[in-house]
Amino acid sequence: MTESFDVIVVGAGPGGYVAAIRCAQLGLNTVCIDGQANADGQASLGGTCLNVGCIPSKALLDSSEQFHKVNHQFAAHGIQAENVRMDVAKMQSRKEKIVKGLTGGIAQLFKANRITSIQGHARVMSGNTVQVLNDEGQLVQAFAARDIILAPGSVPIELSSIPYDYEHIVDSTGALEFDHVPGRLGIIGAGVIGLELGSVWNRLGSEVVILEALDEFLAVADHQVAREAKRQFVKQGLDIRLGAMVNQVDSTATGLKMTYTRKDQPQSLEVDKIIVAVGRKPATEGLLSADSGVSTDAMGFIEVDDQCRTSVPHIWAVGDAVRGPMLAHKSSEEGVAVAERIAGGVGHIDFNCVPWVIYTSPEIAWVGQTEKELKARGVAVKTGQFPFAATGRAKAMEEPHGFVKMVADRQTDQLLGVHMVGPHVSELMGECVLAMEYQASSEDLARTIHAHPTLSEAVHEAALSVDKRAVHKVN
Ligand code: FAD
Ligand code: AMP
Repeated sequence: MTESFDVIVVGAGPGGYVAAIRCAQLGLNTVCIDGQANADGQASLGGTCLNVGCIPSKALLDSSEQFHKVNHQFAAHGIQAENVRMDVAKMQSRKEKIVKGLTGGIAQLFKANRITSIQGHARVMSGNTVQVLNDEGQLVQAFAARDIILAPGSVPIELSSIPYDYEHIVDSTGALEFDHVPGRLGIIGAGVIGLELGSVWNRLGSEVVILEALDEFLAVADHQVAREAKRQFVKQGLDIRLGAMVNQVDSTATGLKMTYTRKDQPQSLEVDKIIVAVGRKPATEGLLSADSGVSTDAMGFIEVDDQCRTSVPHIWAVGDAVRGPMLAHKSSEEGVAVAERIAGGVGHIDFNCVPWVIYTSPEIAWVGQTEKELKARGVAVKTGQFPFAATGRAKAMEEPHGFVKMVADRQTDQLLGVHMVGPHVSELMGECVLAMEYQASSEDLARTIHAHPTLSEAVHEAALSVDKRAVHKVN
């Protein structure tokens, strides 16, 4: 029998679970179907983000950063620490506890919001119906609804020439689960995930080499930010080789030989483990029946308009499986906007105001456009910059690295982009995103009082610097 709901949500990652909660808040009778299970086979809501993405990676980044600080930064404070050792099993169990707590929290929120939660594999059929299949592919249940929200997320891309063996050659999920610190670690891809996971194991003692096919480091970021970040990463011991296209991996008596091409020359490197971090692809395989009517592109992304509508009326799609950056908060905001549209509201989302963060040390964060992108579009801009080394707080914290850069329209002074590298810039980003949402000018930020001594003074001074009136540097 087919059970009817107002809304069916497929996927309980940050796109799906947030959409389901917002639907329920708006009075819509909602069912959410998700296939993710924990090691015991039980449902584990929260998608990639909570289970194998944002949260476990940040847990390990934090543990490894504490370890690194004890070994490398405490001495400057006069603290002597000897024989410091990392208990990897303890670090991993802390991470697992955090994941369990948060995924369990989503289950409680579903219950409190009276959302029906179903574990299984969803398949979208014609006529706005969704079947639920078990692991053997057998039909277990079927649901119908006027509106369907698809939020199936994404999975790691596998290189056909370097298949995962899930022991020595792993994806990001495997890299979050190492039970010991690898001696020599090779990483393919210097994107967000490669840099974050490379930082974790480098801080814990691995010799890390990151091989990146492109010649430019972090091409998506502001070029000054990328240059400063790379300088700091190299100082920390990350060996980043650009223009290095990995073609092949072979087992040797002593490890794994990675063969790559650099400047047209074949080169090789021996490592103990390899993390393949070459990007993610939409998890749409098996999601859509042949007659569902929902269109996908050649890469498998679900095609949507600016409002997240698919090719079928009343079927919507959000998150990693649609165009735009693969970021948890982008998925969630699309989920909220779609729920509000289904309930008859407007559903606001400004794709120009999606913040990006890379949780390395120093952190990297930005919102809006880069100076280079704006100039390429012919927009006349003015910029302001302020180094953390000139703020008392960063010095007191012994973290005087990086800077804040602001880009504003030369005529109107409207803020068009903010780019940062430095301590806790993920947290400093919030006020800049808000300023961009409110279409603030750089002067609005320059005339806002910032507490002293805080890191946020670098944001204030960068805004002042747009009009060459920063106080604590020579303009
Ligand atoms: P997902 O979180 O992937 O959730 C989709 C869910 O749908 C999954 O549970 C999946 O099992 C389920 N599903 C798929 N198909 C079906 C089906 N047919 N039937 C039933 N269920 C199905 N982003 C950030 O913003 N900040 C970070 O710090 C960050 N760190 C990351 C670190 C790592 C290591 C990784 C891998 C990713 C990270 N991301 C981060 C990206 C972030 O995890 C994703 O952008 C986000 O999870 C996408 O949310 P989503 O809801 O679209 O999909
Ligand atoms: P992202 O898409 O941000 O996760 O980054 C993935 C990175 O992996 C990109 O910068 C790609 O250029 C890089 N990449 C993809 N394939 C290879 C390869 N075979 N060798 C080295 N780098 C690669």
